[in-house]
Amino acid sequence: MAKAKKPTSRDNAVDEPTAAKTTKTTKKRARVAKKTVAAAGAEPAARPGTPVGTPADATGSAAAGTAVGTAAAAPKRTAAPRAQGRAHLHAIAAGAETAALRPMPRVHAFTQARSAPADTAAALRTTTPHPAPALPEPPALPEPPTLPEGTTVARAAPTTATPADSGYAPEPEPHPQPQHEPSPPPRHQQRPSLFIVHITPEMAPVAKVGGLADVVFGLSRELAIRGNHVEIILPKYDSLRYDHIFELHQVYQDLWVPWYEGAIHCTVYFGFVHGRKCFFIEPHSHDNFFNRGSIYGFADDVLRYAFFSRAALEFLWKAGKHADIIHCHDWQTALVPVFLYELYQQLGMTHPRACLTIHNFKHQGVTGAELLRATGLHRPEHFFDLHRMGDNQHKEALNLLKAGVVYSNFVTTVSPRYAFETKDGGQGFGLEPTLHTHHMKYGGVVNGIDYDVWNPEVDHCLPVRYGVEHIDAKYDNKRALRQRLMLADNEKPIVAFVGRLDPQKGLELVRHAIFYALERGAQFVLLGSSPYQGINNDFWGLKQMLNDSPDCHLEIGFDEDLAHLIYAGADIMLVPSQFEPCGLTQLIALRYGTIPVVRTIGGLADTVFDKDYSDRPLHERNGYRFDDYDGPGLESALGRAIDCYYQFPEHFRELMKNAMRADYSWNQPGQDYLNIYDFIRNR
Ligand code: ADP
Repeated sequence: MAKAKKPTSRDNAVDEPTAAKTTKTTKKRARVAKKTVAAAGAEPAARPGTPVGTPADATGSAAAGTAVGTAAAAPKRTAAPRAQGRAHLHAIAAGAETAALRPMPRVHAFTQARSAPADTAAALRTTTPHPAPALPEPPALPEPPTLPEGTTVARAAPTTATPADSGYAPEPEPHPQPQHEPSPPPRHQQRPSLFIVHITPEMAPVAKVGGLADVVFGLSRELAIRGNHVEIILPKYDSLRYDHIFELHQVYQDLWVPWYEGAIHCTVYFGFVHGRKCFFIEPHSHDNFFNRGSIYGFADDVLRYAFFSRAALEFLWKAGKHADIIHCHDWQTALVPVFLYELYQQLGMTHPRACLTIHNFKHQGVTGAELLRATGLHRPEHFFDLHRMGDNQHKEALNLLKAGVVYSNFVTTVSPRYAFETKDGGQGFGLEPTLHTHHMKYGGVVNGIDYDVWNPEVDHCLPVRYGVEHIDAKYDNKRALRQRLMLADNEKPIVAFVGRLDPQKGLELVRHAIFYALERGAQFVLLGSSPYQGINNDFWGLKQMLNDSPDCHLEIGFDEDLAHLIYAGADIMLVPSQFEPCGLTQLIALRYGTIPVVRTIGGLADTVFDKDYSDRPLHERNGYRFDDYDGPGLESALGRAIDCYYQFPEHFRELMKNAMRADYSWNQPGQDYLNIYDFIRNR
């Protein structure tokens, strides 16, 4: 029987197995129409869940089980001033510390210690400092001529432009094309502005696979708002969302990028992406690096991004761009600091400092010696050294992410807790020793979310907009969500999951939560899709099994609009991840007054504070947490959230207000990154 549902959801469905195409029956519709109403408090008065310990975490917070009152005993919340509510968010290794950081000389002065303040940073740095690797200092080369203040126009390439050890026959020196870039913004009064270049494989919305894309999009704007000149360099994928790129035009026609024994000819384009200044590098070669229909997933991914990294630096060099900071992201561009130090500094490009942000340690770009031949890094014995690029686990392999850690002036990951877990908690996927060696230049900065996109006060995807002062309008969205997904309109809370259906996201617990929530008198909504066919099939099977339930809807696919409605319409957002470097889902949920129930790991632990067991002031508590990755663990938190919804609605409402008042915009992370930039510049 065909399903009469909103076509938008169906249009985005991913590989729907035929069997699962069976839709909710008219029986369900009839039940929905009957509008079953469960009175508040009709559910059995369950006890607050198993006490959830707050482990000794990166915040150095109080010991497990610092119970400050069960749901029953919790005192009424007081409205918190906004600043108070967000004060705790920024006790990070990078942000809190960098104000007190001491200068670090040149590109690779590993031996400088950072003064470690109390709390989080102290917890992050309890390990004994390891000796610094004996890497040579870069030669003291003269600074290249400085461009006039604030200008970024191309200038003639220096005649010494051929990388000394690249081994390619120099092409005729290209003449830089006139660039039609906008003038940089006026310089900020209080602090000198910086020229910051992001070299990245992704940026929302033009080239998005995951959170990395959102970070570059949000952070670059924040840095520009603060008076810095920010440019972004991306590959010119054929799959770019060209409808989001404005005034796209060629700015550099003859960029020759050293590659093996020769060079590849590239064209560089410039365009605006929602105000961001972006350069797109297009190589012309048989390798067809970026014209493959999708961003990742090819056997030669390592070589594709090694080429891009080299091309980006070659472009900066040839165009005479005098960046203060080069910020690269994940293994894909982790070779940038290697090229900078090993090749371009020798040519006189001594000014830029390199910052690397690692969004997920699971992917590291482990490869063989071919990489060295391709990129002009010609001394295998030098680069295979364990103190440089040699993989910690496979003697015959090179590790790009590790190289980025070794060669960057500063390395961040996307939350302090994840910084701790990767270095000391067994989550570093083999990079733990490297992080220990370089711990003095390693820290975590919690991502922000873009409040132009994720804000219930202005969200155009919502039928009714709302804010903390008129929170009741949230329930109009709840009704709209139920209508759209044909769920029963009753007094039950809606528990939601939005995310990639990836094992990382805790899929066993998601499955468990669906049945548990239904059993406990809640409704459940899921929106997700997976690149793995097997996982999609599993969830299609589950969807079919629950098809007749008036209290459950699983939407298998990617649907941005529906995601907005779920964030607004749900009461509780579940994030039970196995590991979570930062997590945007819980941050967005908080903004929409949807109470997160999360596992106490990574960025989730840094941003969600348990209503019953946190040692935070009451007005800072904003959700529920659990430690153990199993059914009872999940139930201990989800059960308390459902209980609170039914039994203490006024407490639940205060929790919603706390959530909405917290500031998870890019405001503070932007400042944190500027502190890091200042630190590595002020050597
Ligand atoms: P990750 O980067 O690991 O995928 P994050 O929590 O950092 O996880 O970011 C996930 C982002 O993607 C969130 O904004 C979430 O709303 C969005 N998202 C994930 N899956 C879907 C989906 N199926 N439909 C719409 N949005 C989705």
